[in-house]
Amino acid sequence: MATSRRPGSGPATTAPESLLALKRRARRINKALAEKYPYAHAELDFRNPFELVVATVLSAQTTDVLVNQVTKILFARYPDARAMSEADPAELEAILQPTGFFRAKTKSVLALSTRLVDEYDGVVPGRLEDLVTLPGVGRKTANVVLGNAFGVPGITVDTHFGRLARRFGWTTSEDPVQVEFDVAELFEPKDWTMLSHRVVFHGRRVCHSRKPACGACPVANWCPSYGLGETDPVKAAKLLKYELAPGSESLLERLLAETHRAAEIRMESQRRLP
Ligand code: SF4
Repeated sequence: MATSRRPGSGPATTAPESLLALKRRARRINKALAEKYPYAHAELDFRNPFELVVATVLSAQTTDVLVNQVTKILFARYPDARAMSEADPAELEAILQPTGFFRAKTKSVLALSTRLVDEYDGVVPGRLEDLVTLPGVGRKTANVVLGNAFGVPGITVDTHFGRLARRFGWTTSEDPVQVEFDVAELFEPKDWTMLSHRVVFHGRRVCHSRKPACGACPVANWCPSYGLGETDPVKAAKLLKYELAPGSESLLERLLAETHRAAEIRMESQRRLP
């Protein structure tokens, strides 16, 4: 059973881990992540399901910080599906340009808005089977919208979630849909949405793609991939990002003190970025 060993205690045993042991270890990791990131939340800004579905489509291949800057302008100009469906494509392209792949994203957003107006009276549907039929909306986007705008549990498998699920040994699959199903087996549905936020938070701040900060990782004791990245605590601490980055102590303190205002505090801190 490849479970709670101490960091640096050598390779995990080769005996296969039972499903029960895997579930226990997965839930221990989720608990540790919940303690580390009590302020975890969706990092895309939105006020309604329409804004969230558009923001999620725009977030492909770029950062949430950049999408948030663009959507502020976008939704001031086109506040709903009807207005967006009637947008001038050239004007829309100019607004979306900073997000990259802006021509394809313009087409997606126009087609998505038009379909919402034609088929759903401009209202974003609250069912997975309807959401995935919308242009530019796959399972990942649909789960983001369900989990965050409709309160329906969903596991969001983006690049961070997939990478961490494999490093945690929760799945061996590279296929996002299979990853979603494998992870869903390990947790209660009520935990799916917050688990998604926590794992993505951890991937952005600590368990990076190329340089995971294993020596500063709160789940190192339960991670079979411990040692993949920097294990020296001092060097690892320098790899941490966002509010965990060296020098961001006051931001972290505010987030921990006011978890219910985390999204607001994040937005304020981003406004102060150069
Ligand atoms: S940083 Fe290292 S120990 Fe932590 S989850 Fe990633 S691979 Fe595992």
